[in-house]
Amino acid sequence: MAKVPNTDNSAQKTYTRTGCSCTYNGPRETIYDLSVAGRNCLEAPASELPALDLSDIPTLSDYLANEGEGPTLPQVTETDIMRHYTHLASMNFGVDGGMYPLGSCTMKYNPRLNEDAARLPGFANLHPYQPEYSTQGILQLMYELQEDLAEIAGFDATSLQPSAGAHGEYAALMAFRAAHLARTEGKTARTKVIIPDTAHGTNPASVAMAGYETVTVPSSSEGLVDLDALRQLLDEDVAAFMLTNPNTLGLFEPQIIEINEACHAVGAFTYCDGANLNAILGVARPGDMGFDALHINLHKTFSTPHGGGGPGAGPICVKAELAPFLPGPIVAKFIHEDTDTALYSLAMPEDSIGRVRSFYGNVAVMVRAWTYIRSLGGEGLKSVAHQAVLSANYLRVVLQEHYKVAFDDVCMHEFVLTGAPFRDEGGVRTLDVAKRLLDYGFHPPTIYFPLLVEEAMMIEPTETEPLKDLMLLQRQ
Ligand SMILES: *Cc1c(COP(=O)(O)O)cnc(C)c1O
Repeated sequence: MAKVPNTDNSAQKTYTRTGCSCTYNGPRETIYDLSVAGRNCLEAPASELPALDLSDIPTLSDYLANEGEGPTLPQVTETDIMRHYTHLASMNFGVDGGMYPLGSCTMKYNPRLNEDAARLPGFANLHPYQPEYSTQGILQLMYELQEDLAEIAGFDATSLQPSAGAHGEYAALMAFRAAHLARTEGKTARTKVIIPDTAHGTNPASVAMAGYETVTVPSSSEGLVDLDALRQLLDEDVAAFMLTNPNTLGLFEPQIIEINEACHAVGAFTYCDGANLNAILGVARPGDMGFDALHINLHKTFSTPHGGGGPGAGPICVKAELAPFLPGPIVAKFIHEDTDTALYSLAMPEDSIGRVRSFYGNVAVMVRAWTYIRSLGGEGLKSVAHQAVLSANYLRVVLQEHYKVAFDDVCMHEFVLTGAPFRDEGGVRTLDVAKRLLDYGFHPPTIYFPLLVEEAMMIEPTETEPLKDLMLLQRQ
């Protein structure tokens, strides 16, 4: 007889997950609870093939003999295993099943059209070692994506190589390093990079990877860059300033032009962490704000299912001075003289920092981004930003009845609440609120980030969340 699991299933009676296709209905047993001595799975009949000599390869029992005691493995039937893991898989939460307001991560619904395009056999069956004459289609798509991203963000050149936002940050900082060395004929790449205290953790990590020292500039009481504090930190040792705009509090930096000018005045480059591009698509361009480089998280803004470390792409766009240093190869376009047709070829930028990725990068993510851009068009992209900002402001206002907004102002695509009053009054932590939201079928918001807000909850509903689901979240 299976042991009766010691679980409280009362949860099943009190609530079910609304708006979610998942079948999780409260606590269930672990695989060890299912264990009954002597139970096992189907055993295949002995093989009739001649045995290989594997005497050099240690077997499990060798390890067990050496360690004295083996691991305690659950003893279960195959049916038990199958049901257990299928159940666990069904507990997985995805944006296709319910709302996923994970701030900064832009967990928008990903249109199936993009998936269909990425699965077209012509793309899906490509091999990276194919000769270029047989890969003209994907090269054309990559070339057009390079151009589209540069246009959308306001820059001169793009490299699609980096595989994530963090990877793009690192690649751009290495390009800054190379450009400083070129400017000073090899004398100095400078030593410091300034980042605000609202920055994503990848920013200081990338700074360290690129061999620079991080200097933090505190935010003002409005949650924005404190321009005076920044000015005091700026000197000839500063290689770059990295800034997310709109920042991780969901606030647009109104002094962005002055910030970029102040940095350029001491010869520093400015880097835009473009993870929040969703808020300003088609409305404002970081290149026009004066930034020298930015990365774009294709998996966030341009719609690839992500999370759990799944494949992403973090292309970087740069101004003309930095273009020769981009990681390569990038795709170049030629016009064939005889036939007057366009040809596409991989090319290394003149003074490239080199490869940061094998082969072409994460091509399927690029196909999705290209499809997304083409299916929405310019006006569509603009309405993405408008809807995302509207949804966030709607939620900000309705949730204000119950929660304190950390920096209370009209927000962009996301906003940050603080759970500190609940902690102080009743000992309820933000973590408790997040866990409870899962019971109601909502993925929790990002919690305990940004670091400068106590008990932070960072909410980004995105443009694809219907009003009825926003209202549902409000009720919970
Ligand atoms: C997601 C994110 C990053 C890092 O991007 P990855 O693609 O996860 O490496 C950097 N900055 C901000 C603000 C982000 O939200």
